[in-house]
Amino acid sequence: QAKLKGGNQYQFFTLEINELISRKMILETGLRKAASNGEIHIYYQPQVDIETGGVNGFEALVRWNHPELGIISPLEFIPLAEETKLIIPLGEWILRQACLQFKEWLNQGLDLKHISVNISAVQFNEPTFIRTVKKIIEETKIDPTYLDLELTESVVRNPDISIPFMHELKAMGVRLSLDDFGTGYSSLNYLKEFPLDTLKIDKSFIQTIHDSPKDQAVVDTIIHMALNLNLNVIAEGVETDAQLAYLMSRQCHQYQGYLCSAPVPHDQVLHTFFKEEQGVLTGREG
Ligand code: C2E
Ligand code: MG
Ligand code: MG
Ligand code: MG
Repeated sequence: QAKLKGGNQYQFFTLEINELISRKMILETGLRKAASNGEIHIYYQPQVDIETGGVNGFEALVRWNHPELGIISPLEFIPLAEETKLIIPLGEWILRQACLQFKEWLNQGLDLKHISVNISAVQFNEPTFIRTVKKIIEETKIDPTYLDLELTESVVRNPDISIPFMHELKAMGVRLSLDDFGTGYSSLNYLKEFPLDTLKIDKSFIQTIHDSPKDQAVVDTIIHMALNLNLNVIAEGVETDAQLAYLMSRQCHQYQGYLCSAPVPHDQVLHTFFKEEQGVLTGREG
């Protein structure tokens, strides 16, 4: 009963809602032109081999630098892009940029095993998705075995369609990762049905590793299961040496996290993670 609370409070409430709606409208309108205006950038976060400490590859993470509102998180604008279907052209642009950038790094002599690109459920479930991936592989001439598509369990709205889609991608040579593992509903059921290469343990599990034996048991179990299913396993969100040491003791293969580096712009990758020795680029330690 807003009326009883007095005029001021009621007005304040509507004002807040209006602000939210107008921010959403500003973002939606801006998003249409964002990529062609040069406001969208891709940052790259290293995926580190836990045993050797070397950089195996990078995950592409999109950033939007809005001219008035500043940096907008993908957690805010990807859902908007999905609602408006703008994710289709935007996702295609991101995939192409990431492949081109990866090719450039290979040409510069970097010894990388893969480039990971996040694919939203809306993108994946679009009937043209497979064709788009094929087109980009042909255009950019990337060897598809380098391309790693990160999917979440939310892509599987209709497993009868999604699972054959995944097999088609596998047949093209593309790698598939299951992102944010452990946060969805149907993880175990689908794990054996999905033709996956890699399991990414969600950062929420990593960040609580040292809180309780129960949290450790959950991480142990996920790693065990991944190893038994012959999947690569990556821990997300590793921030401390203690977390890394724990993962190493459990034979987790790779990690991503601020401990190594936050995502960085493409032009920082070379000097941040590699050094040149007699004309050969090798990974920097630590
Ligand atoms: P994600 O794919 O699970 O990516 C991991 C997120 O964790 C990234 O956030 C990354 O910056 C962040 N992160 C990495 N290391 C650490 C750490 O040590 N601590 C903490 N607290 N966070 C860490 P970001 O870049 O804000 O992206 C958020 C989500 O937005 C991504 O989650 C992904 O679902 C989505 N996203 C990002 N880029 C794209 C894209 O190009 N396409 C699509 N469809 N979604 C994207
Ligand atoms: Mg991801
Ligand atoms: Mg994730
Ligand atoms: Mg996530």
